[in-house]
Amino acid sequence: MAIQIKSLDQLKIMRKAGLLVRSTLELVRSQIKAGITTSALDAVAEANIKRGGGTSNFKGYHGFPATICVSINDEIVHGIPGERMIMPGDVVSIDCGAIINGWHGDAAFTMIVDPVDTATQKMLDVCEESMWHGIAAGVNGARLSDIGHAIEKYVTSQGNYGILREYGGHGIGTAMHMEPHILNYGKPGNGPKIEPGMVFAIEPMIALGSERTRVLSDNWTVATVDQSRSSHFENSYCIAPDGKPFVLTEEDGGAARLAPFGIAISPLI
Ligand code: MG
Ligand code: MG
Repeated sequence: MAIQIKSLDQLKIMRKAGLLVRSTLELVRSQIKAGITTSALDAVAEANIKRGGGTSNFKGYHGFPATICVSINDEIVHGIPGERMIMPGDVVSIDCGAIINGWHGDAAFTMIVDPVDTATQKMLDVCEESMWHGIAAGVNGARLSDIGHAIEKYVTSQGNYGILREYGGHGIGTAMHMEPHILNYGKPGNGPKIEPGMVFAIEPMIALGSERTRVLSDNWTVATVDQSRSSHFENSYCIAPDGKPFVLTEEDGGAARLAPFGIAISPLI
């Protein structure tokens, strides 16, 4: 299947969806503290997406019952909000998506609730930075596998982390999950050429221990087999018609975090 190519007007609608995802994530982040339930965080997200004129692309997705995924500690992705209470020292990953006028956004972050453990915080920083390495490698004219290669190269340069194999990034547009699937590892120089109008969600997932995962009995939550703590960051970015990237789910379009790579973002969006 071909990779969906978006026009500038369509990318501008995706920007609106991206900003709604970002504002929702930031609002949820501000509420995360010991004692709050994950379902309370979900309610905050649901209200914000509604207020912003969007709809959730998570709720009802293959039967997923909530607006956000909340994954804690050894849980990596797809955790279902419920009565579980956030505890001191928890590693909390929030994944959120929204649709505006039929166009999708998708992003995620992970944070530690006080007290922060240094080794775990470093893993989060490595995971987040690896996402930027992936986006910086996935420029106009690059090959798709350059993204995963850059992610893996950076992560392995920083320590002995497990990089999840069964899950990865994806194309996004008129649906949340579209072609292509984007690995977070691998050799460079393979796959389709990256072109203007393409939009990708880049989402490295790494663990302090092994990359092996299992799905919990709720049939959704993905956790590490060795119960090591894990991290997940995600942004959706496009290649604009001028050939420059723009991160749709970041307030500044990714300008600050791409500048160290010598990459300027598109002024078109
Ligand atoms: Mg996501
Ligand atoms: Mg995603």
